[in-house]
Amino acid sequence: MPITRRNLLHGIAAGTVIAAGVRPVAALGLSLTLFKPLASGLTLLNRNENAYGPSERVQAAIREAASASSRYPRGEYDALRNMLAGLHKVKSEQIVLGTGSSEILRMVGAACLGHNKKLLVPNPTYPALGNYAEADGVSVVKVPLTRTSEHDTGAMLAKADSSTGLVYICNPNNPTGTLTPRMNLESLISKLPADVMILIDEAYHHYVSATAAYRSFLDFPLDDSRLIVARTFSKIHGLAGLRIGYSVSSREVATRLSALRLQNGVTIVSVKAAIAALEDTAYVRMAAKRNSDDRQEFMNQVNARMLRAIDSHANFVLLNPLRPVSEVLPHLEKNNVFVAPPITAMEKYIRVSLGTPAEMQEFWRVWDLMPPGKMAM
Ligand code: PLP
Repeated sequence: MPITRRNLLHGIAAGTVIAAGVRPVAALGLSLTLFKPLASGLTLLNRNENAYGPSERVQAAIREAASASSRYPRGEYDALRNMLAGLHKVKSEQIVLGTGSSEILRMVGAACLGHNKKLLVPNPTYPALGNYAEADGVSVVKVPLTRTSEHDTGAMLAKADSSTGLVYICNPNNPTGTLTPRMNLESLISKLPADVMILIDEAYHHYVSATAAYRSFLDFPLDDSRLIVARTFSKIHGLAGLRIGYSVSSREVATRLSALRLQNGVTIVSVKAAIAALEDTAYVRMAAKRNSDDRQEFMNQVNARMLRAIDSHANFVLLNPLRPVSEVLPHLEKNNVFVAPPITAMEKYIRVSLGTPAEMQEFWRVWDLMPPGKMAM
């Protein structure tokens, strides 16, 4: 791969941030550290990271764990699996850890898609599972979202047949940030052929505000051994750079997935950080509230400019700039503001990850520098 500016930027994972001050969040009795844009001077709103970083408590756990970095993990996996088992009221044998939920997605694809089985996905959605599958020669059946950007569960069911090995559900969905009602998902699951596995990706679970349409499949499980639920520590917990996620499934499926795991892939430092993150429930609550405030502020700015955006339940928003994306992206990049690459199947939109207030101010400052262009609905 040539070393271009874009490739370099894709390689930057979490980056280094500079603490700029502390602002009390009175209602929650917590203090929150505000961050300036990245030290590099780049405004990275492209990968749905937690722009504020992990909590102070998690950072302390990471520092403390650093001295164990010379060791391969030993009992640490079990400590985290036991904790997750308690949290989700399952047996620890049902939990599999991965180097990010990306590894979980890859393992699930590898476990469920042999023997000419097809993968069924909504479109657009988070592409990693489909990409892994295609690289393995698996056919991927892509079912367009509905007009309201929900999974089209009826159309997905119609496409499922004896050749389907795995159905991917991403809720909230990336890149749209939309929810698919639990009722529709349950109806789809109940009608899928008995041997079709179902992967439910809940990477953005913690950002969803209470709504009747959404119920996590971990908090409200179904008694169905075909279900695998994936979660990550990369989003609300702010640990994208430490690469840790997990799945919850039947014990039998977990054993199959574990056999495909990268040996010692998850490190002692990531496990200790994840344990501290689970313990810091106040930070998760505060981060969810902060994200919903940031999202509201983003929508205010969208409305002030008479642009259009899809209502999001996550830490990113799909924005219709009402002008060609092919003009918007280069303008932002030229000014060191990076959003997601063009979105397949929703080419008129750009996906903007929510950053800190300073980063979002920079985003809108650069936006407003755009010369008036042709309107593109
Ligand atoms: N699933 C979804 C829906 C995502 O958006 C992402 C990353 O953005 C992932 C999974 C993978 O995250 P990670 O490997 O960092 O856990």
